[in-house]
Amino acid sequence: MFVNAKHDAALRNFAERFGPVVGASYEEEGDTRFGEQLWSDLKTEHAVYRTAWELLSVRRRSPRPQRIRDLVKIIVDGISHWPEQHAREARLRARRKLGPPGWSFGRNDLEWLRVKLAELDILCGPRKGDRLTRFIQVPYSESAIAQLVLCRLVNAYPTEVRMFGNTVAELPVSDLLFGVRPALYAILRRELIGDCGVRFCKDQTCGRLFAVTHGRQEYCPDRKCEQRHRQRKYWLLHGSDKRRERKSGLRHRTRKFRRVRKENP
Ligand SMILES: [Zn+2]
Repeated sequence: MFVNAKHDAALRNFAERFGPVVGASYEEEGDTRFGEQLWSDLKTEHAVYRTAWELLSVRRRSPRPQRIRDLVKIIVDGISHWPEQHAREARLRARRKLGPPGWSFGRNDLEWLRVKLAELDILCGPRKGDRLTRFIQVPYSESAIAQLVLCRLVNAYPTEVRMFGNTVAELPVSDLLFGVRPALYAILRRELIGDCGVRFCKDQTCGRLFAVTHGRQEYCPDRKCEQRHRQRKYWLLHGSDKRRERKSGLRHRTRKFRRVRKENP
């Protein structure tokens, strides 16, 4: 919903419904909580979050290196306020004895991301191969750097596994008093791990643990597993029809087919 907000009104609706994305202040009156959302922060956070999802999705295609570089640039510029926002939240929390923020992002994180952007500049910039950059070795590909950047973003917002109602869920460590941003990045984290982590093969006779290499891969790289699943599904859906057909004989089926073709030339 936040990612796909196309107009300012949609962004405003989101903040009114779920609370600020990044709260500039926090007040409590009885059971009611008030959070302040600066408009400029909301716009910036939206751009960063949307770009992060785009960076995640480009892994499935083979994007131009320059595109990856441009996306990382938007992210690095947008999150340059995160260290200040963290300091502000820590200050306001200390004043109200609310404990430290449940997320962390400091100057060193920002510097690290700026280095990654510089590496992308070397990999796909016009200076590639010139005298200066020939001696600088970048140990990663553009898409690997894209994933490293996403890892650093989601690591700013740690999660923990907790009971939520009757189910076990992965939730942000933060109490979200100063905005729902930690929850947004917990969603991104789940997608990031789900896409490139490890899974058990869905084929029950196999059940092997494998590294997911593309999209929503559900079966291990052994092609037989997916084939077996397709066959089983086909027979579950059409098995009874096929058996009936076999019983009544092939000739009947041919005759029926011819009649249908005559009716619908
Ligand atoms: Zn398998």
